Amino acid sequence: MSDASASSTETTRIVIGIDLGTTNSLAAVRAGKTPRVLRDLDADPLTPSMVCLHPDGRTLVGAEAKALRLEHPERTVFSVKRLIGRSASECHSDVVNLPYQVIAGERDLPRIKIGDLELSPEAISAMVLKHIKATAELALGHSVREVVVTVPAWFDDAQRQATKDAAALAGLECLRILNEPTAAALAYGLDGNNDGTVLVYDLGGGTFDVSILRIKDGIFRVLATKGDTHLGGDDFDQLLAQRILNLLPSKKGSEDPYVLQAVLSAAEGLKMRLSEHDEATLELDLGDHGEVQLTVTRAEFEAAIAPLVQRTLDCVKSAARDAGLELSQIDDIVLVGGSTRVPLVRNRLEALTGKPPHTEIDPDQAVALGAAIQADILAGNDKSLLLLDVIPLSLGIETLGGTVQKLILRNSTIPTSVSEEFSTGVDDQTTVELAIYQGERELSKDCRLLGEFKLRGIPPLPAGLPRVLVTFLVDADGVLRVTAREQRTGIEASIQIVPTFGLTRDEVRRMMIESIEHAQDDYIAREEIEARAKAEAMVRGTKKALQIAELPPDQTFAVHKAVKALQKLLDADAEPNALKSASDDLTKVTTTIADDVISAAVTKALKEEQQQ
Ligand code: ADP
Ligand code: MG
Repeated sequence: MSDASASSTETTRIVIGIDLGTTNSLAAVRAGKTPRVLRDLDADPLTPSMVCLHPDGRTLVGAEAKALRLEHPERTVFSVKRLIGRSASECHSDVVNLPYQVIAGERDLPRIKIGDLELSPEAISAMVLKHIKATAELALGHSVREVVVTVPAWFDDAQRQATKDAAALAGLECLRILNEPTAAALAYGLDGNNDGTVLVYDLGGGTFDVSILRIKDGIFRVLATKGDTHLGGDDFDQLLAQRILNLLPSKKGSEDPYVLQAVLSAAEGLKMRLSEHDEATLELDLGDHGEVQLTVTRAEFEAAIAPLVQRTLDCVKSAARDAGLELSQIDDIVLVGGSTRVPLVRNRLEALTGKPPHTEIDPDQAVALGAAIQADILAGNDKSLLLLDVIPLSLGIETLGGTVQKLILRNSTIPTSVSEEFSTGVDDQTTVELAIYQGERELSKDCRLLGEFKLRGIPPLPAGLPRVLVTFLVDADGVLRVTAREQRTGIEASIQIVPTFGLTRDEVRRMMIESIEHAQDDYIAREEIEARAKAEAMVRGTKKALQIAELPPDQTFAVHKAVKALQKLLDADAEPNALKSASDDLTKVTTTIADDVISAAVTKALKEEQQQ
């Protein structure tokens, strides 16, 4: 559709911003100072993120698909954002309530099954993006190729990559994946552009995100992000839908997909009216399943949703803690997402933070408008702004005894690069294996393995002598590249982490909660492992030193005695404190041994192992 006009030449480079939402999607552009949404004539700029594969062979997208979801529930696909970049097993709980069928395909990839067709979530997202592209091209009057697409702040590598793939499938080149809350803040940065701390509260159809950002001198820095993948306006609809279903004369209605969809749509309409009025009435004719008449007051609705709203507030508090801030230190509150139109949400948030939230920008459009600003910056039309994001979980490598040494800490801003020097643990070691982990826990078995690689060709040297510089580089899209370089020889190996399935957001959250719950256990486990590993290294190193060094008999005896004592504790699985004190004793007797009789390398090996 757009390819026909692809040859038209443009004088300024136009990059558009796309908010690819779970529920709704839209595009915006900035040509000049102010961004604007791209809409088809007077049509609603929001495109429902829905695709209907009609039995007659047509593929309908957006509002047309939404209109058909009652007629063809099994053929109308929505909420694919919950599936994208995840495995079928991972999204199992997201799939059970969907009216269309999702099966596990090759490599446990989720496939949407419609009749004989099996489609990937990327393919469905691509159909939505193509529709957005066509609308944007109509509105702009020329072709569109380069885009910025937004994703939730908690999307992991795999989900970001899959989103990029969807754009490519739609014939778009995604120049940048941008975090939704960052985009929203960017949209608000337009107005006052005062330096300060901003809290972005995004409650959409199916997900909730909160981010705390610091804006200073035109630089947007994300201090912390939190959220809930299963919390949004759909849950409000469900509560109302349940009330409606309870009024049906027969329970059979709730098993009929047609009835369920009709009830859900009615519930959503009721909810929206309750954002404006103190009371709303619904009259629904469900044919054979009966008629329903229901009046709901705003107070009743608010009582029903209050626990859900409270969960969002708990996330807000936790994000503030992560950012190291009191809520009173936050200067501005920004609302994003259609569900922030619910008055209770606004009121409770204001009561918690003590500040009225900003509402100048349409909460449905803020993300797309911000994406358009970022797109314009990338197009090279605005050099005054810089953008920084954070990584959600710490990144590190496995060291001695299965502990993870973190190189990049959670909430570090990206792009970022951190280097640290490591050495070998064994003499004549020519290969170093690097295992990269993500997570907050101390032990590798509790973190997620992202990838492994080997640095080969290290010259055979005594343990501790090779100097391996490990560099972690996280680019602006959050993609990690790890490089290892032996400093003397310059040999190098590296890996780019593009996991088949990275961490899911739920997994990220679970791992973070676990890290807090297990902090004490972890500390003890790590202490034990380290004390043991050090003691073992001391015994090994000293025994070797004794073989090559010619010591006066009394010293040899003292060292032997200390080594034996330590070995005995190791054999008996002694507790860390005992190991530590025996290791200290051994260190004392060995340091009295002159350097000139003991190989400097062995001393160094011991020292390095002790330091780790
Ligand atoms: P997403 O980011 O998930 O695509 P949106 O930001 O578009 O979602 O928000 C969609 C949600 O907002 C839906 O649950 C919709 O019912 C809800 N919503 C939209 N307008 C209103 C309103 N006036 N009152 C209450 N909820 C609303
Ligand atoms: Mg959204």
